Amino acid sequence: MRLRWKRALLKISGEVLGGKEGPLDKGAFSFYAEEIGRAREAGAELAVVVGGGNVARGAALPFLPPTAGHTVGMLGTLLNGVVLREFLLARGIPALLMSALPVAGVAEAVDPWRAKEALSSGAVVIFAGGTGDPYVTTDTAAVIRALSVDAEVVLKASKVPGLFEDDPHKNPSARLLPRLSPGEYLARGLRVMDGAAVAIAGENALPIVIFQMDREGALLEALAGKRGSLIGGEG
Ligand code: UDP
Repeated sequence: MRLRWKRALLKISGEVLGGKEGPLDKGAFSFYAEEIGRAREAGAELAVVVGGGNVARGAALPFLPPTAGHTVGMLGTLLNGVVLREFLLARGIPALLMSALPVAGVAEAVDPWRAKEALSSGAVVIFAGGTGDPYVTTDTAAVIRALSVDAEVVLKASKVPGLFEDDPHKNPSARLLPRLSPGEYLARGLRVMDGAAVAIAGENALPIVIFQMDREGALLEALAGKRGSLIGGEG
């Protein structure tokens, strides 16, 4: 399959990494590692931003001051990063873990120049720790990291096939929106991707694809521009 984008940043939400068995679902990590390997074999250069909603979200910890809650949330993304790295390495895929909140001996500090070098040489770079700052989300981190490593697109793995005018779980007749400008996305008040993230992507002409990564080959189809909804982008 011909890839539309060669270097991409894949955003994996914590929501899809956790399962019924607990916050870290072996089957989910295995699936994502497998799919990342497949895309890499097809010639894609992939950076990954992992979310942390399966471990903790700042807003769900009201007994903590918000800054502390968000810090716990960001540290949750680091757990996902450590696990994903292991699943990639187990498949023989070279993988680097960088964190906005680095931990000596576990995850190095985010370094876009080193990350670009690693991506060019075929390694997968996992970015954890979000932006390192409270009050934003890993969607915003995904856009910032994508811009920092010259990724051509952000691919956000979602539980639904793309952007809908309404929540398709609550309203089954909601229509899929195949293409929107960042301005239209924000005006409609959609929430699949964080508004701040969409605004930054829009200002920098970085396209975002929202797609369902629910089966083998879905990531490759998204990289080929054949899957999901597109926010921004040319032509
Ligand atoms: N978070 C943060 N700053 C960031 C990224 C994340 O404070 O740059 C916190 C925030 O509390 C968030 C939590 O970490 O709720 C987990 O991240 P997110 O909700 O983006 O994870 P996802 O929904 O992708 O699983």
